[in-house]
Amino acid sequence: MYLTVRDATKTYGTFTALDSVSIEIEKGEFVCLLGPSGCGKTTLLRLIAGLTELDGGEITLEGAPLSELPARKRGFGIVFQSYSLFPNMSVAENIGYGLKIRDVPAPEITARVNELLQLVKLPQMADKLPGQLSGGQQQRIALARAIAVDPRVLLLDEPLSALDAKVRATLRDEIRQVQRALEIPTLMVTHDQEEALALADKIICMNHGIVVQAGTPEDLYHRPATRFVAEFMGSSNLLSAEDIARHFPDLLATHPTDEKTYLACIRPEQIGLTPAKEGSATVRSISFLGNLQRLEVDSAAGPLLVETHGRVSCRMGESVDLRIALDACTWVLDDAGQPERSAA
Ligand code: ATP
Repeated sequence: MYLTVRDATKTYGTFTALDSVSIEIEKGEFVCLLGPSGCGKTTLLRLIAGLTELDGGEITLEGAPLSELPARKRGFGIVFQSYSLFPNMSVAENIGYGLKIRDVPAPEITARVNELLQLVKLPQMADKLPGQLSGGQQQRIALARAIAVDPRVLLLDEPLSALDAKVRATLRDEIRQVQRALEIPTLMVTHDQEEALALADKIICMNHGIVVQAGTPEDLYHRPATRFVAEFMGSSNLLSAEDIARHFPDLLATHPTDEKTYLACIRPEQIGLTPAKEGSATVRSISFLGNLQRLEVDSAAGPLLVETHGRVSCRMGESVDLRIALDACTWVLDDAGQPERSAA
């Protein structure tokens, strides 16, 4: 394992911001730290960067502990949410800054800066000042500055959150392309599940200062471990075991055998429906969303959300039958109502 965080703990007074958090990043991997506001994502990133001190636990890079190493000696590239470029330096000076303080000869800096400007698709911008650039362009320059020094790890703290949706989507793809081309191990903080699904090799989903689940985007979407992950990673129908037993008994076959409380999580696109004279459900509403339709149906098990691609062959108020395949149902631990946050 390339970068390892083991049992990291961070408290502020009596408040536990991180409670024994362990994560791993492999060489070349793009990892997203995902979770709601205040769950501890930035705190974890800052601990790894060396900008905040650990209260307990250990962080190692290629097996060597990082605790004694100050931030500037860790060799990490960081891009923050706010563009944080040096306002009085040109774009070229910003990108070359890290190389200059490492006494790299000027011609080499110029060559590297030009190469990076090509990479972030801004070859004409070398002499501009940051204030003359758009937000998206500034973040591209911030990315170029972070990777100029061949960082051992790239740390991105919500780098896209200040940008509008379209720029965000373009830059998201570009960050991924650059990261793939250079194979830099990358850790990105985001609270946007769509961003994490689109970008990450691995998502680490956090809540209340702990890691709730880590896995591939497919794992977290299709096999959420808890109710929190199921709800955070997109729309879902969550049904109690009693409702499943009564209305979809076939699905009980996969219910875990332990004593904990589980809910059946069924994603809206996993439910098939066909018009039927005296069907088990009624269509309450249909929304047209371009590439898909979202339907609300009233079933004996309560309201269910259904999404279909292509045209729907039923109308509002119509009676329908529902089909749910056995493998469409994932049993998730019901973690609702857990304490807000442990005190130190
Ligand atoms: P966001 O998405 O809003 O940035 P986050 O998941 O990155 O949230 P953190 O910034 O890591 O959250 O903060 C985690 C918790 O720790 C928050 O409740 C925050 O108020 C608290 N916290 C962070 N830094 C400090 C500090 N220096 N002193 C006291 N509390 C802090």
